[in-house]
Amino acid sequence: DVIANYTAFQDLRLAIERPRAQRGPRRPAGTEPLERSPSGSAGSAARARATRDPLRIVVIYPDLLGTYGDTGNGLVLYNRARWRGIDAELVNLQSDARLLLSGDIYVIGGGEDGPQVRAAAQLREQNFHRVGDGSAVVFGVCAGYQILGNQFPGADSSIQRGVGLLDVTTERSNSPRAVGELAGVVTVPGWEERLGTLTGFENHASHTTLGAGVDALMEVRAGVGNGTSRSDGAVNGRIIGSYLHGPALARNPALADLLLEIATGERLEPIDDHEEMALREERLAHLGIPR
Ligand code: GLN
Repeated sequence: DVIANYTAFQDLRLAIERPRAQRGPRRPAGTEPLERSPSGSAGSAARARATRDPLRIVVIYPDLLGTYGDTGNGLVLYNRARWRGIDAELVNLQSDARLLLSGDIYVIGGGEDGPQVRAAAQLREQNFHRVGDGSAVVFGVCAGYQILGNQFPGADSSIQRGVGLLDVTTERSNSPRAVGELAGVVTVPGWEERLGTLTGFENHASHTTLGAGVDALMEVRAGVGNGTSRSDGAVNGRIIGSYLHGPALARNPALADLLLEIATGERLEPIDDHEEMALREERLAHLGIPR
């Protein structure tokens, strides 16, 4: 019997598909090295990266911003890189550790107002806006998205400063808290066809207004999103924010691969995502949205 959530689909399938005879001695779950190759000519990405440092994926403060499972975004990126033979490193950076500015991809998750304020203060103090000398990919979700912006409300509704990587402003809304499924069609120029529809869930009390320096990530078809227009999220080059929990990159593998391709500069081979696609179809059908 196996119990697994969808960040484990690929590992799970590998374990089930591998003939019994090849399995060898039992190892504790999660410690097996993966030998997965992408379909097609395996390992070209691995060869291209062979002489570089490992792709460093940093999850920012999972101890403060781990309430909604967004830490899984780091795991998805790490595994999808490894499944292509890309040498990758996953750093779950706790809030008492010195900030690593040398990451290639940063993910920041959602959380309660208090931890969010603390995370933002630390990130500002430690110059998070300098990550990767401007070359890092950053994906922030909900509280993480708000932190990437100019300002957001604290638990007492006081104005808190974000790190200013996205030209967005978040304010407490008078509407009821936005809780439920969130889905939409990607509107970022050049990303529409590749990403199509994104699915996830949302849970937030504030609304976000986009400034002139960003594009919306998507046009909302179900749920609230930014709340100030029928849009969700914001994008400025390599900096991306959204209200999509899920984890978003488990529910939207195409978005995970896009982030990996931006970070590596390499075209990734497709992998068999039929379980993830089945999950997406189920969630979108539930909302009456075509894939
Ligand atoms: N505290 C923020 C809000 O309610 C973010 C919530 C979250 O990260 N889900 O708007």
